[in-house]
Amino acid sequence: MAEPTLCSFLTKVLCAHGGRMFLRDLRVHVELSEARLRAVLRAAGPERFLLQDVAEPEPEGLPPRDTAEPGRHDGQRGGGGGVACRVVAVSAARLCARYQRSECRACDQLHLCRRLMQGKCPHRDCWSTCALSHDIHTPGNIQVLKNYGLFGLNEAQLQTLLMQNDPSLFPEVCLLYNRGEALYGYCQLKDKCHKVHVCRAFIRGQCKQKSCKRSHQLVEATSLEVIEDQGLNLPSVVNFQIIASYKHAVLHNTLEGAASSISAAAPDQGPGRQGTRGAGVAQVSLPVSTPAAKERGPVNPKGRR
Ligand SMILES: [Zn+2]
Ligand SMILES: [Zn+2]
Ligand SMILES: [Zn+2]
Ligand SMILES: [Zn+2]
Repeated sequence: MAEPTLCSFLTKVLCAHGGRMFLRDLRVHVELSEARLRAVLRAAGPERFLLQDVAEPEPEGLPPRDTAEPGRHDGQRGGGGGVACRVVAVSAARLCARYQRSECRACDQLHLCRRLMQGKCPHRDCWSTCALSHDIHTPGNIQVLKNYGLFGLNEAQLQTLLMQNDPSLFPEVCLLYNRGEALYGYCQLKDKCHKVHVCRAFIRGQCKQKSCKRSHQLVEATSLEVIEDQGLNLPSVVNFQIIASYKHAVLHNTLEGAASSISAAAPDQGPGRQGTRGAGVAQVSLPVSTPAAKERGPVNPKGRR
């Protein structure tokens, strides 16, 4: 397989398994040595595949939410004790925001119904009645998918990929929480607020605060009710967190590098670097140790395709 075709295929396999897999599980689907597969993933870069060495997971699902203590490292749980490489599907492909308001006819982004991708378009089963496209295979969308190396993904796989990458599919963030100095910002509803209390800039990969007052812990900030309300599933939120934490670390390394004019702080994808740095950052305080393949959420409740 040519490299771009192989990368599309690997993204497809990852997204068919919840968007995140261990390298050894991914390898089962391709006839490549582990070293060769690693090389392919690294060559594609963290814009496509995030590789991180993490502590071996416990066999069962995510720990109960209230035991997911901030700052706790998986390695401290005393589970299997080994280290495994996990691979997370990353993409820069996004839904066109202007298309959602019928303000864009053609651009380099996907023209798809956002609510379809969130699994909650009321026209889901009779999509000819929705004003927005439910077809990932329009000529325009096919071209976008090709441009991002995503050709061959079906709707459910694309949905999985977008849910963990596109901030516009994330639950609605509380804007009042994001203003002011108080613990809850200006949000008067505090714990009773139905919107997510999380740093909006972080979600967008733009938080430049050195010590941000707003939460960067999406899994803790996003209540299960909100997740269900919004048609999300927990694995998507966890994967979103992993990717956002990585990007945040890269942004800050870059900022610090610029500040001290050390060019070496650029986010390169040299062997070994991504794993160690990413694991150190994204790993902290996240209940991320569940094999993605076991986590099938309500993204595609009808089991279509
Ligand atoms: Zn557009
Ligand atoms: Zn729709
Ligand atoms: Zn609020
Ligand atoms: Zn922040």
